Amino acid sequence: MIRINDILDKVSNYNPEANLDIIERAYIYSARVHEGQIRLSGEPYLSHPLEVAGILADMKLDAVSVAAGILHDVIEDTHATAQEIMEIFGEEITHIVNGVTKLSALSFGSSQARQAENIRKMILAMADDIRVILIKLADRLHNMVTLNFHSEDKRLKIAQETLDIYAPIAARLGIYWIKKELEDTSFMYLQPEEYAKIKEFVSTNREEREKYIETVKSFIEKKMDEANLKCEVMGRFKYYYSIYQKMIKQGLAFEEVYDIIAFRIILDTIPKSYEALGIVHSLWKPVPKKFKDYIGVPKPNMYQSLHTTVIGPYGERIEIQIRTREMDKVAKSGIAAHWSYKEGKRSDEQIRKTFAWIQNLVENQENIGDPDEFLENVRIDLFPDEVYVFTPRGEIKSVPRGATPVDFAYLIHTEVGNQCAGAKVSGRIVPLQYELKTGDTVEIITNKKGHPSKDWLNFVKSVKARSRIRQWIKTEEKERSLTLGREMCEKAFRKDRLNFNTLLKSEDMGKVVEYFGFKTIDDLIASVGYGKITPLQIIRKITPKPEPDEKHESILEKIISRVRKKKPKAGIVVKGVDDILVKFGKCCQPVPGDPITGYITRGYGVTVHRTRCVNALKMSPERQIDVQWNLDLVDTYPVKIRVRSYDRVGMLADIAATISKNGANIVSASTETRESKIVDSFFTIAVEDTNHLKKVVSAIRKISNIQEVKRIDR
Ligand code: MN
Repeated sequence: MIRINDILDKVSNYNPEANLDIIERAYIYSARVHEGQIRLSGEPYLSHPLEVAGILADMKLDAVSVAAGILHDVIEDTHATAQEIMEIFGEEITHIVNGVTKLSALSFGSSQARQAENIRKMILAMADDIRVILIKLADRLHNMVTLNFHSEDKRLKIAQETLDIYAPIAARLGIYWIKKELEDTSFMYLQPEEYAKIKEFVSTNREEREKYIETVKSFIEKKMDEANLKCEVMGRFKYYYSIYQKMIKQGLAFEEVYDIIAFRIILDTIPKSYEALGIVHSLWKPVPKKFKDYIGVPKPNMYQSLHTTVIGPYGERIEIQIRTREMDKVAKSGIAAHWSYKEGKRSDEQIRKTFAWIQNLVENQENIGDPDEFLENVRIDLFPDEVYVFTPRGEIKSVPRGATPVDFAYLIHTEVGNQCAGAKVSGRIVPLQYELKTGDTVEIITNKKGHPSKDWLNFVKSVKARSRIRQWIKTEEKERSLTLGREMCEKAFRKDRLNFNTLLKSEDMGKVVEYFGFKTIDDLIASVGYGKITPLQIIRKITPKPEPDEKHESILEKIISRVRKKKPKAGIVVKGVDDILVKFGKCCQPVPGDPITGYITRGYGVTVHRTRCVNALKMSPERQIDVQWNLDLVDTYPVKIRVRSYDRVGMLADIAATISKNGANIVSASTETRESKIVDSFFTIAVEDTNHLKKVVSAIRKISNIQEVKRIDR
């Protein structure tokens, strides 16, 4: 437990002229009225107001704030009255304590209107005296630290409220260390499992990571020193909630979040900061679009810094912040850094400027009667990661930062999204990848015959748009294979002088559906289109023949045996479809790492070609289907290479030995002698992927008398 002397020391450290007397008197009074009260933690109640006052002293606030912090709970929780406080401590402190007491009575329930009303009160309190909010933040911070003594229900409610209301307010006021602590503690209670995972992830290899921080840090210091820049470099782990948000936003598994370490370079002046940025960018390649100049354009809460992300020494991303010492002070304590509260003087020009936004909100709320509308306005200021745009009718919609007209279209309605053909922003046609900005009026141009494109998945930001586009593609692929399956069945049945469409309605067909384990006839037919079963299999079930058509059978078997039967997926993922026969184009022999495209082949599933294969280009686009390499599955794939060399004794043996030494099997080999002692050797070798192939090829190139080694199509 913090002692009153610690608090007094802290305050006189940053303000030797502070009125310590008022803090001491507040302490004595608070100790008297809280006497005998115990917190849920079992500690004397007084520990809480003291901790809160300690946090306020960490924020370097004035003596009145610290004293008010010690008194913040007396009206609410003891027999003390506002009048008594007024008599002992005067108007200023009473005013603040009253404000905190009023705020404490607010509960941010789920009802939107009530929440709006409460945020409104909060903002009015801020406009009235910002210290009320600062005390409330310190109060919440300490309450979060001791939240484990509450019941589960209460814990969740308080944690959610902290995340929804208090953390954004702390961020808006520029007090980032409080924002981070509020977010991390809320996160710990709201998603304990995720929290634990990230915590463990960050702590594994901690030693190694610390060594890494040290290495990068001293490297930066050395380079800055060489450029005669005096600086201080700090490396730190990012806080858990920010790692979690990164995972959610970018859809990453936590092993994939590499940039959990950030560096900060502190310099003396602004020109030196830009110079340092130049050095960082010359050392490591900057990641495009990640550079932010908050020195040139400060955040509304006065935050200033240069932010950049670079590809670090080991190919990993590093976030680097560069700023002056003064800017660092502001970033740490936000508005408190601008605090020039002199006794008796309510606020100065600097503070007035800083809080212009509060003034704005207050003025606006007087003109806006509707609480929902007011809340929307507040959100714009409190949640900078969202962008607010308007429909042509003037309704306001929030989309994630970076969202495009396609995201907006899906937000309006799934149909609008699916038929989105173009967009106008404030009357001007924009590309579908256009990044929406707050204040844009967005009009979506639809086309009844239009449909989503797979490319959209590369730029949409909202979860809704992404899932709806995927859904559409899946349905559409099913419909396509249904049409194809029907076409194939009709043909095959006709050959056997059967009428597919008549049989479709028969009872026998119902049995066939059941036999193959499908729920509906459509599923059965679609699976023919996908190539999971053949029309012939259906025919045999529906008209069991004592002797099956041997000739037909053998051709079928032959073709199927060419398909990789043991592993039907064979290292390929077909989007939206499970368990499908896959074979590889003999013409182009794709290997993992090659760009590939799939084509639905009549009756035999999906054939995979290299995207640039001539045969693939000839296929009907109707039959095209998205496929991807399944990199979890290690297999080998045949690929043909041509080795051109001067003929010499033992050449073939050398090549063969090199191939097998590099882990590839030779499937077949042949040679052709060309003019003047030049020999072409052709090998079909089994490799794991394109990297493996590259390795083999470059090893062969090193053999003496080799002229050229080349992958060939057939
Ligand atoms: Mn309290």
